[in-house]
Amino acid sequence: MTQEPAAVFEAVTKTYGPVRAADGVDLAVRRGETLALLGRNGAGKSTALGLLLGLDTPDSGRVSLLGGTPGQAVRAGRVGAMLQEGRAVPRVTVRELVGFVARTYPRPMPVADALALAGLTALADRRVGRLSGGQAQRVRFAVALAGAPELVVLDEPTVALDVAARGAFWEAMRGYARRGGTALFSTHHLEEADSFADRIVVLDGGRVVADGTPEELRRTTGGALVAVDLAGAPAAFLSGLPGVTEVEIRGDRARLRTDDPDATVRALAARDAIRGLEVAPPALADVFLGLTRADGTARNPEANR
Ligand code: ATP
Repeated sequence: MTQEPAAVFEAVTKTYGPVRAADGVDLAVRRGETLALLGRNGAGKSTALGLLLGLDTPDSGRVSLLGGTPGQAVRAGRVGAMLQEGRAVPRVTVRELVGFVARTYPRPMPVADALALAGLTALADRRVGRLSGGQAQRVRFAVALAGAPELVVLDEPTVALDVAARGAFWEAMRGYARRGGTALFSTHHLEEADSFADRIVVLDGGRVVADGTPEELRRTTGGALVAVDLAGAPAAFLSGLPGVTEVEIRGDRARLRTDDPDATVRALAARDAIRGLEVAPPALADVFLGLTRADGTARNPEANR
């Protein structure tokens, strides 16, 4: 029971009219990992999470959750979900709400533990209707934890939260992950995927277009940014250097995007044009744009709302 993946998608497809919201998705979520589903609007993230939770059924392919069907796992309280919609009853306290939900599960987490994990101990007696957006979101997280789930599924958990509230939310998530919990969250925020996920799966047009650690994703492009001082030299030759795909000049500093940083740097050296050299791996944002621009919009315009 401990070795099987927490969740598995096998060749899953789901179409809505002309839109392929899931287009042959293969994915295994390992136990104990925190996995980010990253993708633009309409990439198919919510669809994938809905299929995983059994809110929808695939047209073809198979989804399994904790060794059984999504329905079985959800009913047994083995999965906690925090989806985008849903408003809590405003007049109950935080403790009452989490306690109420906990009692609906066969083997709940002690309410005090769920509150502590979500960073709500000090707010336990506050009415739910009197909370800030960030606090309310942590209450929803505590509700997702109430059944003592082995896996939590979070659809854009930090949308509309400010930086401090995001930090508090991710602190809560880390506490859950440290206890061995598995988490699958969707996000548009590259930096959140980068900082909090062990693994990132990029969806585009209903397809998995990349799957790896943040580090592996950066390496897939093989490209880099090379920056040098021009020291008064004309910049015209830079765009002709080997590997260079883009040149940006700001004041006396040139920033080159290159597919072959070694060749670019050698060519700069051959022209004695190296001053203040900097070579950096591509930002995750560049990797992401490179992966999603070509595929989704061109092949499946409907997928991009
Ligand atoms: P966002 O980041 O905007 O939440 P997403 O990556 O979660 O987007 P989905 O909500 O999964 O994307 O949508 C994928 C595609 O499927 C979109 O083109 C969307 O319009 C379409 N879609 C999703 N659900 C339905 C539905 N119930 N009926 C019709 N089309 C749908």
